[in-house]
Amino acid sequence: MTARPAGRDESMVDAAYARLGAAIARADENRALVTEAFKITSPQTALTLRCECMHRLCTEVVVLTLEEYEDITADPAQAVVARSHADVDDRGVVKRTSRFSVVEEGLREGG
Ligand SMILES: [Zn+2]
Repeated sequence: MTARPAGRDESMVDAAYARLGAAIARADENRALVTEAFKITSPQTALTLRCECMHRLCTEVVVLTLEEYEDITADPAQAVVARSHADVDDRGVVKRTSRFSVVEEGLREGG
């Protein structure tokens, strides 16, 4: 581990962006998969997608229908994550179901 300069806001911001980048990369994969799936199946079809939490090494999957996914991602600030990963994500939890949770960027801003 390399020592991080104490009290530097930039390094914290950089780390947050890196974490968010990992989440966005997985969200992009999901988006591509859903786009393809829509061509061959109905909105009620359940799909296994990547958890879009901010953990860089997350390998968790979430199962939701194309319709549910479209509903969540209609708001670009929202992401779908595994149920248990909502609590460790930096973003705020807006919805919990029996299969997945939804987090939203910006809810924990301020301070
Ligand atoms: Zn996760």
